[in-house]
Amino acid sequence: MTTVHDPVAAVEPIRPDARPFIGGEHVDPASDRLIEDRAPATGAVVAEVPAGGTEDVDRAVAAAREAFEDGRWRDLPPRRRGQVIARLAELLVEHGDELATLTTVEMGKPIRYSSKVDLVQAETTYRWYGELADKRYDEVSPTGPDALGLITREPVGVVGAITPWNFPLMIDAWKLAPALVAGNSVVLKPAEQSPLVSLRVAELALEAGLPPGVLNVVPGYGEEAGRALALHMDVDAVTFTGSTAVGKLLLEYAGKSNMKRVSLETGGKTPNIIFADAPDLDFALSAVGFAIFWMTGEMCVAGSRLLVQRDVLDAAVDKAKELAASWMPGDPLDPKTKAGPVVEEEALERILGYVDKGVEEGAELVAGGRRVLEETGGWYVEPTVFTGVRNDMTIAQEEIFGPVLAIIPFDDEEEALRIANETRYGLSAAVWTRDLARAHRMARALRAGTVWINNFDQADITAPFGGFKESGFGGKDKGVHALDKYTNLKTTWINLGRGGRST
Ligand code: NAD
Repeated sequence: MTTVHDPVAAVEPIRPDARPFIGGEHVDPASDRLIEDRAPATGAVVAEVPAGGTEDVDRAVAAAREAFEDGRWRDLPPRRRGQVIARLAELLVEHGDELATLTTVEMGKPIRYSSKVDLVQAETTYRWYGELADKRYDEVSPTGPDALGLITREPVGVVGAITPWNFPLMIDAWKLAPALVAGNSVVLKPAEQSPLVSLRVAELALEAGLPPGVLNVVPGYGEEAGRALALHMDVDAVTFTGSTAVGKLLLEYAGKSNMKRVSLETGGKTPNIIFADAPDLDFALSAVGFAIFWMTGEMCVAGSRLLVQRDVLDAAVDKAKELAASWMPGDPLDPKTKAGPVVEEEALERILGYVDKGVEEGAELVAGGRRVLEETGGWYVEPTVFTGVRNDMTIAQEEIFGPVLAIIPFDDEEEALRIANETRYGLSAAVWTRDLARAHRMARALRAGTVWINNFDQADITAPFGGFKESGFGGKDKGVHALDKYTNLKTTWINLGRGGRST
């Protein structure tokens, strides 16, 4: 009988305030409706979080608007804004244990990753944008002597950020750091599965010196608080990471309201393509485990389709089975655990539903496919491998967002490319080959925002991240380019000539 650390006891010393954070303080919510914030490890309720609605969102947007209009933040010298954001990075580290614990308790990720990945990535992001704040210059248009054309960037105003639960610290940082450094005010609607960690970051931002009202957080259900934010007439831009289905709704809301700018980072169905000439086949095959079983597959870039050249198919299937056995889930608060539970009961049911669908459509289930550790009360699922998958099967086309691998054989480069691109998604792709020309041909032809050659999931804050096709559009997260999402370009013409000619 397996037991796991008690998540309720882990949260007890932290005692997070779950009320909305508006105008620099926690405030009582408009309604007394509550969200039960449950720990995936045991299913226990760890906090009752007020479910924000239209009234709370209205208050938060009003606070953000006031903070924007009176210039308490956007009119600070960029260097000063950068110092505040860099200070937030330091505070994240000082409160690292607490933030990592909240992350793990709320969404089930193993504690070693909450601290070594989420926390480190969030800290890097705030620090990097903090340092960037006073290092971007505006432009002067190359005109004739009678005109001066200034091309300047200004903050868009009030930004609504809607984020998912799978990397709450890191993805919040990808939105907040560039939006704030650019001088905007923000209203953040975190996922209902992970609100506590976002609320805590807002408290730390205030401590770092962010003026009250510049960052507001309203926890709540997507269809209520999220929808109200996206439909709000006084929100200038929405930045979103989440599912493709909700991303499409956000486009509708923008059209129905004030045509606010929308940027979307959405789902994926990443092809991980292994050619027989991979430079180190053992390494390529070993990386399959990380690609799909790390984070229990709850990753937008999860390598859920393994495309394998037929010559090495048997070796790949054997390796995948071995890896599945080595990524069995366990207690997320145990520092040795590599894989935790999935985020909620609904997710467990959805994943098991896809397993049934795979079998029903004729794929061969060769590993996993069952719920485990049921005695804990938590939502654990075995790493699962299907072979004999055709790319038109449901398990090869839909985003499962769980530890389910579909192995699809191919004969040659042309076929690999066709299969890889036959999907509505275009977030990322990986190619393993020692043939340099083929690597470049594939990288050019793959319709994906990121292509990894002989690695899986290489990333850095300096490089933009985002998808093609139904994986999103409207600008990228990360890197210098992310600032484009949170700034408007303005052109100012100054007449320097006597005749009034501008060019
Ligand atoms: P989700 O779309 O269900 O929820 C994301 C956010 O949207 C949550 O805050 C939710 O409350 C909110 N929301 C839900 N309905 C809404 C509505 N009608 N109006 C406004 N907001 C609404 O996604 P999720 O389950 O939290 O996250 C998993 C999804 O996120 C997967 O599809 C995954 O691929 C995607 N994701 C993408 C990236 C990326 O960078 N491309 C990164 C991480 C996750």
